[in-house]
Amino acid sequence: MWNKCKDRRRGRLFVVSGPSGVGKTTLIERFLKEDRGSRFSISYTTRQKRERETNGKDYYFVNEETFDRMIKDNCFLEWERVHGYLYGTPQKEVLDALEQSIDMFLDIDVNGAIKVKETYHDSCLIFVEPPSEEALMNRLVLRGEKEIALRMQRVHEEMEKKYLFQYSVINDKLYTAYRDFKEIVETVRRGIHGKNHC
Ligand code: ADP
Ligand code: 5GP
Repeated sequence: MWNKCKDRRRGRLFVVSGPSGVGKTTLIERFLKEDRGSRFSISYTTRQKRERETNGKDYYFVNEETFDRMIKDNCFLEWERVHGYLYGTPQKEVLDALEQSIDMFLDIDVNGAIKVKETYHDSCLIFVEPPSEEALMNRLVLRGEKEIALRMQRVHEEMEKKYLFQYSVINDKLYTAYRDFKEIVETVRRGIHGKNHC
């Protein structure tokens, strides 16, 4: 039933990935401000909350014991260990929203995105890439990120998997990247498929 790409009654699953600090949150938040009918999937994570983050808005912050129990209880659509911490997409929230014709936006790592696509073939994978490694590093600094080296180590591995994504956006100038991002979402909604299929 998940292969029914053209079933307009069901919401669409947009999976946004790319290196940490590339601007995924920025693009999604901006889009969701304009498009009130869609929703962001709030992941669970075992990493520490950053100063500017809010529990229940940016993430649900939990300890490893809780996360492990949730894995056993089959609470996750997918989960991964990223930069040494556990991250997972809540299954029920996402599937319930899609059933209610709400488009869902996931900001998850590349491996999680590939897993989602394997199960939900009609999901749409969007890869956000930085204009350069230097620019990416500057953004991590700007965000006040403490574990910059850890995040930069993973960039090549992530970039190598870009070809598995149907769409990609280079986030150089935010204005242009946002325009491209929005156009992808609108294209998918109109049912015009990307390089593989959505
Ligand atoms: P991610 O969600 O991919 O980890 P964020 O959206 O948190 O990344 O962005 C990381 C930092 O880079 C933030 O401080 C954000 O304001 C900034 N940023 C996002 N897009 C751009 C851009 N096009 N140019 C400059 N800075 C940007
Ligand atoms: P950060 O700690 O910078 O918020 O996120 C680190 C990485 O974890 C990012 O690539 C982000 O997309 C990813 N991530 C966030 N939530 C999830 C999730 O639920 N599942 C997976 N697989 N990755 C996630």
